[in-house]
Amino acid sequence: MGSYHLIVGSGLTGAVIARQLVDVGERVLVVDRRSHVGGNVHDHFHPSGIRIHTYGPHYFRTNDEGLWAFVRRFSVFYKYEPELKSFVDGGFENWPVTTSYIRRTIGEQWEPAFKGKPSNFEEASLSMMPLAIYEKFVKSYTQKQWGVPPRTLSADLAKRFDVRADNDLRLVKHKHQGIPENGYAEFMRRMLEGVPVLLNCDYLKCREEFKLAQKTIFTGPIDEYFGFDLGRLKYRSQRREHEYLPNVGFAQPCGQVNNPDPANGPHIRTLEWKHMMPCDYAKQIRGTVISREMTITQDNPNDYEYPFPDETNARLYQRYRERADLIPNLLICGRLGEYRYYDMDQAIARSMLLARRITGSKSGNAGKINRQNTSK
Ligand SMILES: Cc1cc2nc3c(=O)[nH]c(=O)nc-3n(C[C@H](O)[C@H](O)[C@H](O)COP(=O)(O)OP(=O)(O)OC[C@H]3O[C@@H](n4cnc5c(N)ncnc54)[C@H](O)[C@@H]3O)c2cc1C
Repeated sequence: MGSYHLIVGSGLTGAVIARQLVDVGERVLVVDRRSHVGGNVHDHFHPSGIRIHTYGPHYFRTNDEGLWAFVRRFSVFYKYEPELKSFVDGGFENWPVTTSYIRRTIGEQWEPAFKGKPSNFEEASLSMMPLAIYEKFVKSYTQKQWGVPPRTLSADLAKRFDVRADNDLRLVKHKHQGIPENGYAEFMRRMLEGVPVLLNCDYLKCREEFKLAQKTIFTGPIDEYFGFDLGRLKYRSQRREHEYLPNVGFAQPCGQVNNPDPANGPHIRTLEWKHMMPCDYAKQIRGTVISREMTITQDNPNDYEYPFPDETNARLYQRYRERADLIPNLLICGRLGEYRYYDMDQAIARSMLLARRITGSKSGNAGKINRQNTSK
């Protein structure tokens, strides 16, 4: 192969960058150590015909017309606006918590339990709700998710939920929400159509073979790139146990039920995949598949899911980042490369920006990460 850019990782970040570069006539090679393209944006069929999102439920949403047009180049999307419940006090209650629930259980004159500028996750949560509600819905869920007291976590984490003042129970209110009609695996395959991809290839085990690449865009874990020599970044992930119930139509009221109460089992949530499929199709399927998710601290870089939201890990990431930015013609990016949770629309927007920088760049440093200026 003559002059080309090497893209390590065929997840959304690598695939969008590859697509954008190929569309403007650049030559690229994508390598991935998994046996399929798409990274965590992937699904497969259970023998019953139920589609399971292999790496956890993925709901696509965006407010951006350009992004919405981009994803629909590769698939039709059917509308899916997730509604979640939490299993508390033996019943299914809406999540995020609604003001009507708080009024029903606490009283009309309720107030948030914390006033002032929150300095951690617990304070940020209590600035939205009374203590009893926080303890029931948030505290033990968060403890299960991260395995540490919520007071030790970043206040920013609480930006992912709110208290609902209205009757709109959709998890998020983005203008466009949906799931690719033929699944995420097919969506990602189509995004990479015409792009050379080498699967089952771990770049870190054969770097020398790619030394002629003009630029290397690495979307794997940044700490692994450097052999973890400054220490490991911490990740939490889910272990998923799937169960097929042949004689049950639907087992729960919606696709995702949170399980904050430790007395109700160690799992953090239960997923029922049929709810996430087009209704007419799902109704014809016999039985249902539910998956219980148990959160664990993950040591295997291939299964990293959520970056750990605390200061210690943010500082360690920064030390790796400073080193990465000194290496010419190397760009480490994506959710693993930037040690940052990106929703799919954010990952796409970011990758488009990076691709523009790569194609517009003349110097070896172009495309370097600047979190402050570029994150959505
Ligand atoms: C549990 C979970 C649920 C999610 N749910 C949603 C959701 O509902 N909605 C939403 O918008 N977003 C969701 N996301 C976010 C979404 O998964 C990410 O935005 C997306 O995966 C980012 O893509 P990426 O390419 O950066 O990373 P990845 O998808 O992880 O891709 C990285 C790729 O790099 C490859 N790789 C790594 N190291 C090497 C190496 N050394 N050599 C070769 N290949 C390598 C990996 O095999 C992988 O294929 C969720 C994420 C998780 C973890």
